[in-house]
Amino acid sequence: MRPALLLALVLSAPAAALEVRVDPAEAVPGDVLEASVLGAVEPRRVKLTYRGLEYALFPTPPDRLRAFIGLSAEAAAGTAPVRAVEPRRWRKDLAAEAVVTVASRTFTARKLTMPPERARLTSQPGAQDGAARIRAVAAVDTPVQRWEGPFRPPAEGRVSSAYGHPRTVNAQPWAWHKGVDIAAPVGSTVTAPNSGTVALAGTYPIQGGTVVIDHGQGLMSALFHLGELLVKTGDEVAASTPVARIGGSGFSTGAHVHWGVYVHGAAVDPAPLTRRRL
Ligand SMILES: [Zn+2]
Repeated sequence: MRPALLLALVLSAPAAALEVRVDPAEAVPGDVLEASVLGAVEPRRVKLTYRGLEYALFPTPPDRLRAFIGLSAEAAAGTAPVRAVEPRRWRKDLAAEAVVTVASRTFTARKLTMPPERARLTSQPGAQDGAARIRAVAAVDTPVQRWEGPFRPPAEGRVSSAYGHPRTVNAQPWAWHKGVDIAAPVGSTVTAPNSGTVALAGTYPIQGGTVVIDHGQGLMSALFHLGELLVKTGDEVAASTPVARIGGSGFSTGAHVHWGVYVHGAAVDPAPLTRRRL
């Protein structure tokens, strides 16, 4: 091609433009933000950041990149941009942003009482092993989306404790509640909230019987205080597959399953995900 013609084509080509969309743009602590980037020229070069952290982007047919951002119960209220930048060779970088507003959300404090021998679990050797294993599993992003459609609660029963409560146990400060508790009789079935791979199946002093399911792209479900486990690490599970029985094991006040959802390690509110299609 003659240089003059090439130059004319380059000059007449429409200017590339990035676009960022975030759902929801008005959020509360506990929400999952779905950020989409459109218009990338070289998708692999695009970086997405929010409040100083970079989030993994995954190609999502037909034409966008997508990232999930988890807002924990402790996410600060305020306004901040989700920003995408595509560095370009010999040209100005492409950049775009979408502003997200996080409203404040009040969580009711709860006072729990526990028999002293069970409360002593927290000072046992190995008490932190479960949390350390779960953090290690949560640090790995698998790029394939394994979940399909809305999430389903892992057991039939009433919600005995909602997400986000600040808590004390026997008048001592304790971690805020990083999931929802569903009360159900010992021995009843606990099912996978959505499809995925069992990233961890084991028993730990605090969490008791534990099953962690990796749904892909940074999303994980963690099920705690289980009785008998029906799956092992590495198993593929479909949504609603039985994975365990209700037990009440570990640092627990009764027969229930604790269901936590983590997005790149941030504990989000599972309840809205049962009504939403990510
Ligand atoms: Zn719980």
